[in-house]
Amino acid sequence: MPSFQTTPGTRDILPPVASRWRAFVDVFAVVVERAGYEQIVLPMFEDLGVFQRLGDATDVVTKEMYDFVDKGGRHVALRPEQTAGVCRAFVQHHPNVPWKVWYAGPNFRYEKAQQGRYRQFDQVGIEVLGVDDPLLDVEVISLAHGFYRDLGLRNVELHVNSLGDTGDRARYAAALAAYLRSHEVELSEESRATLARNPLRVLDSKRAEDREVVAQAPSIAEFFSPAAGAHFAAVQEGLALLGIDFVVNDRLVRGLDYYRSTTFEFVSTALDAAQTAVGGGGRYDGLVEDLGGEPTPGIGFAIGVDRTLLACDAESVFPALDGAADVFVVDTTGGRTALRLSAQLRGAGLRAERAYGAKSMKSQMKTANKSRAVVAVIIGDDELARGVATVRPMNGGEQSEYPLEAVVATVVDIVKKAK
Ligand code: AMP
Repeated sequence: MPSFQTTPGTRDILPPVASRWRAFVDVFAVVVERAGYEQIVLPMFEDLGVFQRLGDATDVVTKEMYDFVDKGGRHVALRPEQTAGVCRAFVQHHPNVPWKVWYAGPNFRYEKAQQGRYRQFDQVGIEVLGVDDPLLDVEVISLAHGFYRDLGLRNVELHVNSLGDTGDRARYAAALAAYLRSHEVELSEESRATLARNPLRVLDSKRAEDREVVAQAPSIAEFFSPAAGAHFAAVQEGLALLGIDFVVNDRLVRGLDYYRSTTFEFVSTALDAAQTAVGGGGRYDGLVEDLGGEPTPGIGFAIGVDRTLLACDAESVFPALDGAADVFVVDTTGGRTALRLSAQLRGAGLRAERAYGAKSMKSQMKTANKSRAVVAVIIGDDELARGVATVRPMNGGEQSEYPLEAVVATVVDIVKKAK
């Protein structure tokens, strides 16, 4: 028989890591819902055209898309990110602005799989549509910043930049291209290819050969219009007002073409892998219009779940949830009493486990120990005949018998006191 393994770039998220993921999303939901963001759930695949709006010069669109023609002849693609879907939904449903939404879920990119870089990876994120106010940019950045803090991360650096407005970005891209072309021979082969497609992305190069040329490249700041300069200054002032440390990184252009004005990235200094960006985002004024809507300003961020959890591991914070049971029911009389009692204990809000099959007392007690339950409820033939159960604290405390009807209340009490 053939046997199968996960395909490259995908992983099973096994227990107990999967519950850690859920807890991660729960913490995120608390942070952003406090700020008035509401959850949105988007389709995992859409018309390919939605994602092509991300720009034909980005690898995400040109090389990494999981696109296919479905049985109805539609050319669709698995979403590589969720901002485009949010903007498509905005144009489709006309919600009131500001529209503040958050999301969580998987994205798909055909990337070279490695530690911290997968073909199916999860993100949590927020988007706000309809507001052009630098203090909103500050709020958005501060929510990501606060979330990392709530996870317990201390070694996450915030990098900010501005790409100016559309005209500034275009003039800068032209000047940068001219500069890079004049230094083409000094660039790595990969960067020469990138230069032909998207000069801004050459700034992302981490190759040693490119370092010098990139360091001497013109800065976007020289191309800011007065309005773009004032917007960026207001963002920096706002961050300072909230006491959020940041560094201005004028080489931060971010992968996707739709970014304008404020861009930012969070980098974990605890990760020594090649992949240290744990999240990022920025303004994308123009994307809604590209998707057929009215001109609408937008801003958001996405945080990589996988990579942020790697950063948590590196900083020994936000451990996997403790999977200990509250109570373990041992029944050597055939299991019917365990069936009923466990249901009642669970109904009372406890995490109740039990053994299955006709196992001996010794074997069931062994499983009870492994479950790390606070208390065991034991029913043998003798107990059953008298309508009682033995309640045994697992920390070695005194055990006692209780009438079966009193067991649930007694156990609830013991577990409450133990926690
Ligand atoms: P992006 O949507 O490319 O701006 O990425 C935002 C964040 O998502 C990054 O900072 C990473 O943490 C995470 N991310 C992006 N691509 C991947 C990937 N292929 N595998 C794992 N995480 C990713």
